[in-house]
Amino acid sequence: MNETSIIARHFQSHTQRADVLLGIGDDAAILKAEENLVMSLDSLVVERHFRMDDTPADIGYKALASNLSDIAAMGATPCWAMLSLSLPPEIDEAWIAEFMQGFNALAKAWDVLLIGGDLVRGPLVISIQITGKTNKPPLLRSGAQPGDRILMTGDIGAAGLAWHRDALLSGLDASLRDACRERLLHPQPRIAEGLLIADFAHAAIDISDGIFLDLKRVLDASKVGAELKLDQVALNPAIAEIPLKDDWLLPFMAGDDYELLFTLDSSQFVPLTEAFAKAGIKTPLTQVGTITAPTDLQCFYHGKNVALPEVFGFDHFGQQIK
Ligand code: ADP
Ligand code: MG
Repeated sequence: MNETSIIARHFQSHTQRADVLLGIGDDAAILKAEENLVMSLDSLVVERHFRMDDTPADIGYKALASNLSDIAAMGATPCWAMLSLSLPPEIDEAWIAEFMQGFNALAKAWDVLLIGGDLVRGPLVISIQITGKTNKPPLLRSGAQPGDRILMTGDIGAAGLAWHRDALLSGLDASLRDACRERLLHPQPRIAEGLLIADFAHAAIDISDGIFLDLKRVLDASKVGAELKLDQVALNPAIAEIPLKDDWLLPFMAGDDYELLFTLDSSQFVPLTEAFAKAGIKTPLTQVGTITAPTDLQCFYHGKNVALPEVFGFDHFGQQIK
């Protein structure tokens, strides 16, 4: 295999977008845009974001999904992707083809076009840069205000169980067990939800590193605090079936859920749920707490104050949860 033929065979797309004046094949791509552009980049490495025994298609899907989730959290529409692949010699062309199958399945679903990238030999690292568009005021981490309600989409915990406690899953009903593994491998970026939330919310973030840490990021950026009601956080149904005992906080710390966490004025809750209903979006919205003026994060479980562990989320450069 050589680089040019791999690019032609696996990365060049047959689909198009009117705003892509020049795609893959030259020294750079050329885009046309009138809107504000929203950009993010994420790299995935083995044993941090995926496991070597995940299928290449699963890795391709997840790599794109986690990137799209960042654009969703900004309330923008993802449009263009760039893909950098560092591949060790043992990875063959069949792996690339399968990886791209997973990548393309999700790209197609959201009309995201791969417009360029890079291919090098090295340890397996996948980097994706996504650009989205928006005409709305951006949805930032820094906009939360005292009195805001804190909401989340969907439910959390399943991906963390599948990553950290896969052995426990074998005791579960097959459908619950498969649903957990599916959440880890195939998270659904909340793009449609983010676009609607942008019309009503003050602040938002995607829950990639656990609800404690991601909420804390919103609080720090907004210079506010919060009361989080752990008993109200929407946990995946599998969590109730698992004997977590001492590590019952795992679902709040594990991450990889890619749900959205956001804050809004309480008067905006009903209009938001009406907008969801009108758009036919069935993703549940759950109120999990309140933004406060004092800048600390207070957690309650059925009214009882719960102390946060010293390390309460996934931080690549800090200590990590076991
Ligand atoms: P150069 O040497 O000028 O950087 P390359 O040979 O790396 O060019 O790339 C040629 C074309 O193929 C460029 O348009 C580049 O964006 C695209 N490309 C290379 N690798 C990838 C990839 N992994 N995914 C998508 N496009 C790629
Ligand atoms: Mg290059």
